[in-house]
Parts: sequence; C-alpha cells; structure tokens
Amino acid sequence: MVPEPLIDRHGRRIDYLRLSVTDRCDLRCRYCRPAGDASYAERADWLSFAEIRRVVSLFAAMGVGRVRLTGGEPLLRAGIVDLVADLAAMPGVSDLSLSTNATQLARYAARLKAAGLNRVNVSLDSLRRECVSELCGRDSLDATLAGLMAAKAAGLAPIKLNMVALRGVNDGEIESMAAFCFEHGFILRLIEAMPMGEAGRAAAYLPLDTVRARLARRFKLQPCAAELGGGPARYWQTADRRGQVGFITPLSQHFCATCNRVRLTVDGTLYLCLGQEHKLELRPLLRGGGGDEALCSAIRRAVARKPWGHDFAAAPSRVLRFMSHTGG
Ligand code: SAM
Repeated sequence: MVPEPLIDRHGRRIDYLRLSVTDRCDLRCRYCRPAGDASYAERADWLSFAEIRRVVSLFAAMGVGRVRLTGGEPLLRAGIVDLVADLAAMPGVSDLSLSTNATQLARYAARLKAAGLNRVNVSLDSLRRECVSELCGRDSLDATLAGLMAAKAAGLAPIKLNMVALRGVNDGEIESMAAFCFEHGFILRLIEAMPMGEAGRAAAYLPLDTVRARLARRFKLQPCAAELGGGPARYWQTADRRGQVGFITPLSQHFCATCNRVRLTVDGTLYLCLGQEHKLELRPLLRGGGGDEALCSAIRRAVARKPWGHDFAAAPSRVLRFMSHTGG
C-alpha cells in the first residue's frame, strides 16, 4: 500500500526525521550548550530502542524515509550500533545517517558501516588545537581527526564536515578547512550560527554571503546545478567537481519554504520547527498503550500545524531550548 504522505498546512511534504538518541555530549561547544548547564533528560524518560523502532516504523509508513541520528552526541548512547542495524534494515527507511563530533568514531566507524550506515556528518569547527579547545571545552582535535579518517577507511560516504562559521573565531581558517576537505574528499558545509538558547545567541554570528564570494574566488567555485543531499545546503563546487562546499544560511537566506523535517528529542518530544516551540509529546502516547493508528493520527495532526518558519532574525530570543537539547 502506498502510504499517505505527511503534508503540513503549507503544502510541504515531511519526509525527514532527525532523531536525538541522547542529550549528553562529551564536548561543550560554546554556541550549542550554555556553560554549566546540566539540565539533562531523566534516564527513565529516554525512549527505549523498542520505542524508537516503533516511532521510526510509523514515520516510515507515512513516507518519512530519511532518518538522521543525532544528539547530544549519538555515539555516547550505549548500543547505538544495534539501533543503527535495526533502523537500516527497517522497511521504508531509505536513507539512514548520523551526525557526530567523531570523538568516538575511530572505534565505531567500521561497525557502523557493517550495521548498514552509509554516511556521516562530522562536526569540526577548526583545525587549530587552541581554537578547538576554546570552542569545544577541550582539545578533541586528534580524536575527531582519527574518527574522520576511520570513517573514510570504513567506506562511509559521503562524509560531510560541518563547520559553524563564527566571526573572529574561525572565519580566518575557512579556506584551510576547505583545502583540507578537498584533499580528503570530504564535503565541507558551512553553517550560520543560530540564536538557539543563550549559547546560540552569544555566538559570533557570521553571515555567509561574503564567505561564499571569498571561497568562490579562491577555489574558482561554481554553483552546483543539481541539488545535493535534499537538505537546506546550497552547494558550490570546483571545476573538476572534486571539491564541494555547502552553505547553510538559516539567517541570511532562510529555507523555511522547503523545510521537510521534524525533530524528536531523546525523551520523545516531537518538535515541528527548530525555531519555534510547537510540539507533540509522543512519550505519553507511546507509554499509554495507544495503538499505531492513534499515534499516526496524533503525528499527522501535529505535522498539519507545523509553523511556517523560524523567527531567528525578528525574534532571536524566542527559542529558549538549545541545540543539544533539541537534537541538531
Ligand atoms: N554531537 C553531534 C555533532 O557534533 O554533530 C550531533 C549534535 S550537534 C547539536 C549537531 C550540529 O549542530 C553540530 O554540527 C553543531 O555544530 C550544530 N550546532 C549546535 N548549536 C548550533 C547553533 N547555535 N547554530 C548552528 N549550529 C549549531
């Protein structure tokens, strides 16, 4: 049976679920989690793997074939390889991916690949040790680089490297990060800092238009004609197409009109927009004995009221929750 797709009231088809499997992280990136914050979800409230499998299978039955595991740091969740194996084999899940800071990836990459994961996004904001230490709370550079190389050796592809561009922090090394990515066959994605929670608001936001012009000149980049990846990034590439850079510009050129995603937190809250508070509490429904049909109709009703978009520019103080809580 062909599933009835999930469509919101603005006519956008939702086919992508970002699933946080933990809100814990081994890094403390300044723009992500407020310093000293310890407001973690209660362990008893974490969705179990059985609950996650059920939710993902219901979404898949409604045409949500793309699933990204995120967090917090998803590789900190015990049993993550088993979860990957289950989700990769699930009917209707056509694209399973993972976002990670890669500090643990060296020991997981081969097992993740064998479990059916195809691709990863790795977050790395600098190749300078002092900058990484300052930005992420500790010197995780070697661990992340080892994770990246292990991912490459394991055959995970594509490997996208996410770099949040911050004025006066790492904007002077975007060219060197691009050169590093081109050399290793990683796709660089530059991201504008979003004012999520006090940590995000304190970040030194850098609009990417001038950076794009700079990189285009330096590496002779051209806009990619074809869409790469089905997400919000707009890609540019070198003439030989071996180097690709994606620009994710939620503030300077937002992409709400084509938003195709919803986010599920580790404790089962479904957020309908990264920049708004509209949500559905799925955990009580999952644990309250509701049947699959009741769950699906609750999800359909929630998706129907997905807000048009964020107000990051007009009302930057609106979103109190920070990225690591929501699942970035
Ligand atoms: N730990 C994993 C990782 O590092 O990729 C997954 C979770 S992390 C929250 C996902 C992404 O969100 C990272 O690329 C991170 O840089 C990004 N992020 C966190 N806070 C952000 C903010 N305020 N603005 C833009 N991106 C942010």
